[in-house]
Amino acid sequence: MYLTVLFLYNGVRSLSYIALYRKFRPIKFSDVVGQEHITKTIRNQIINNRVGHAYLFSGGRGSGKTSTAKILARAVNCEHLVDGEPCNECEICRQAIEGSLIDITEMDAASNNGVDNIRDIREEVEFIPTKAKYRVYIIDEVHMLSTGAFNALLKTLEEPPAHVIFILATTEPQKLPTTILSRCQRFDFKRISQNDIVKRLKYICDESNVNIEENALKMISNLADGAMRDAISILDRCISEDNENITENVVRELTGVPKFEYLIEMSEMILDKNIEKIVELSEKIIVDGKDINVFLWELIKMMRDILMLKAKCAITSYAEDELAKLQMIADKSTKEDVAYVITELSNLESKMKWSSEQGIIFETGLIKICLDEDKKAENNSTRVEKKMPINTQAKQLDTFVNEDKEGLKYKVLTKLKENGKIVVYSKLINTKIEKGQDNLVHIIFDGQVDAFTKATLQKDETKIAIKEAVISVCGEDVSVKYDNLK
Ligand SMILES: [Zn+2]
Repeated sequence: MYLTVLFLYNGVRSLSYIALYRKFRPIKFSDVVGQEHITKTIRNQIINNRVGHAYLFSGGRGSGKTSTAKILARAVNCEHLVDGEPCNECEICRQAIEGSLIDITEMDAASNNGVDNIRDIREEVEFIPTKAKYRVYIIDEVHMLSTGAFNALLKTLEEPPAHVIFILATTEPQKLPTTILSRCQRFDFKRISQNDIVKRLKYICDESNVNIEENALKMISNLADGAMRDAISILDRCISEDNENITENVVRELTGVPKFEYLIEMSEMILDKNIEKIVELSEKIIVDGKDINVFLWELIKMMRDILMLKAKCAITSYAEDELAKLQMIADKSTKEDVAYVITELSNLESKMKWSSEQGIIFETGLIKICLDEDKKAENNSTRVEKKMPINTQAKQLDTFVNEDKEGLKYKVLTKLKENGKIVVYSKLINTKIEKGQDNLVHIIFDGQVDAFTKATLQKDETKIAIKEAVISVCGEDVSVKYDNLK
């Protein structure tokens, strides 16, 4: 009965109070993920009583250096060692876990980098431990120590008392003096593989009664980029949003990665040159408050993956059904078209960096890619099928994008967007809007428009929408006239 209650408390109730990272921090060598080459060696040293006096743990953030250091600090002092692992139950282990055992000192060299901090340690090491067998010093980010501090540390490392162990941890071992390096047993921690991260996250979710999709696990491990700590903290955020079932979209939502459906739809629409849908979807993304730069970056990545599929290369970061959709898009586009879109999207990305009107640049940029591609197609006599009428000049869009932001057309189109008249907006992008005499505003078309555009423009509600936008921009009653609508 007692056990059941305890389990419930630890497993479910406490979830909202204790961060997963702390709750599932490895407390035994066998819990440390992806670093078996290190933990096995250290365990053998402990079993055979051949522990060193100075260790250097190097490796990327979140790879398990500090956790391993803490386990080692307990293992050398544990009263009931089990197969080279600390028991985590004896008084020494319990105090060490609570952080109240004064024989184990953790120091962050980033904030204690002076010679005085190391001198304190030098004086202290002369005394025998109070309770434990060894005094253990864990110095994190050790490359941050000042030169004076390194020299002071070196003196201790040259002749360490038998009851002292130093564990130095760093993300940048190349910044350490060779004199220090040569005194330490060095262990290099690897980036943790995606597979290992997925496995560990799955274990944590099972233990915590959290449902999570396989795709969501993959996405998190992808984002964590080899750092288990980051992976767990993303998972933590997902759970704390009170998500009973964590889907890939929950992860995307929380981390700002655009929804897969949006990305795939946009890829398809661009390659199909479906301007209307592009405008519609762009609006949705902007309204959703997504970071357009992140979206564009993800879009470029997806286009690259489509190109990879066309080149018959294997890509692994997708679920089966996602891959099937990408393959479908790849099958109906040409290599040249995809490559062209990637180049143009990259250009758009750099153009957006310098603009304060990112939404507009993004949207018009995407449309321009379609129009330019059509122009390209027009010159290409071998291409039979054309999906969009060539009634527009891409050059005009450039003019529009670069146009003086005080321009009447810019203001009218912005107003239409604000009013949610996106289709009307898209139909007017390639026109000129000029104010003539007698309060008459001219919307001037250039060349032939397709039947659908024409029908839309002739609708009363379209005319009213345009008139409303023009009047609110001009601040006076005006009439609107279409010129050259053929
Ligand atoms: Zn113990």
